[in-house]
Amino acid sequence: MLFDLRPKERKEDLFGREEELRRLESFLDNMLGAIVYGIRRIGKTSLVKVYCSEYGRCAYVDVRGLYDRGITVNAFIEELLKGVRSLNDRIPSLEVDLRVLRFKREKKSKALSEVLEELDKRSMILVIDEAQLLRGNKVFSNVFAWALDNLSNLKIIFSGSEVGVLEKYLGLRDPSSPLYGRGLGELKLSKFSLELSTEFLRKGFEEVGMEVPEEEIEEAGKELGGIVGWLTLYGNLRLNGLAHEEALIRTKERAKKIIALELKNFLDLRPMGRKRYCCILRAIALGLRAWKDIKKYCNDQNDKNFTNALNKLIDYSFIEKVEHEYLMVDPLMRDAILD
Ligand code: ADP
Repeated sequence: MLFDLRPKERKEDLFGREEELRRLESFLDNMLGAIVYGIRRIGKTSLVKVYCSEYGRCAYVDVRGLYDRGITVNAFIEELLKGVRSLNDRIPSLEVDLRVLRFKREKKSKALSEVLEELDKRSMILVIDEAQLLRGNKVFSNVFAWALDNLSNLKIIFSGSEVGVLEKYLGLRDPSSPLYGRGLGELKLSKFSLELSTEFLRKGFEEVGMEVPEEEIEEAGKELGGIVGWLTLYGNLRLNGLAHEEALIRTKERAKKIIALELKNFLDLRPMGRKRYCCILRAIALGLRAWKDIKKYCNDQNDKNFTNALNKLIDYSFIEKVEHEYLMVDPLMRDAILD
């Protein structure tokens, strides 16, 4: 069902990503793996999960799941084990082999490369969601680079929502990075156009036999900025009995809370730059777009630090630069900032 809030896993529930799915398939057939970028709630997890359900041999690790334990090799392997458990009936003995490896590693410490060798023997695809979060630990990028060079049956999909941070972590433009030039296909997911957004809503309502006036669909399509996660939430609230206006308000309120928390997490880690980041975000939320206007609004005298802060906000996918103009990536972010 299109308005199901969980990431989609079945091809028939994945709307409007046929071309992206084909490209992902082609990367995995012809290259060593793929990188799937895109802002939060744009449908990366859904795309990859649908691909995996079709292909059936993915070991899936969401790096956010390691946060409470610390992002260590040990925790990564634990999470990988969890990911393969569900596959165990399809890939017999994999879990057992990985457990043995983990046990061995406790004694020896060879670790990740041996685990990847086991995946290679079974021609598996390792999916690393929010891969940029691994960047603090060099072991990961070195072992992945080694695996891509040496394990001919293993493929890797890196996925992440902090687009610039992931790009830097994978060192796509940096020859000194271990993962540079490894033959990974790049796939960037875009927001839905207004036409696609309304088509998504129409199809979602049609699927459950609900008649919804065209003006409501048009308004929701316009307001939710082409971000499929918010469109899904709106559709889901309508299915649960809310009228158009209320569903739209509730979607925006929920979006505001989620985005405010994401911003808080970002700012809490950067207490020194907090004032500058907040001012920049506020200026952009108020509609200023040019570098000099934002700088003037913030009365910022330090060009270098100011530009660095703008770039960091781009890297973390809060804002984007389109032809020399700075914009919010998600229109619903405005309320979270101006509140
Ligand atoms: P991301 O991984 O980019 O944060 P998700 O895959 O978790 O995004 O999707 C966010 C929400 O949008 C989920 O509710 C998911 O079901 C829905 N969704 C994402 N892409 C699609 C799609 N192509 N068709 C239908 N629903 C989608």
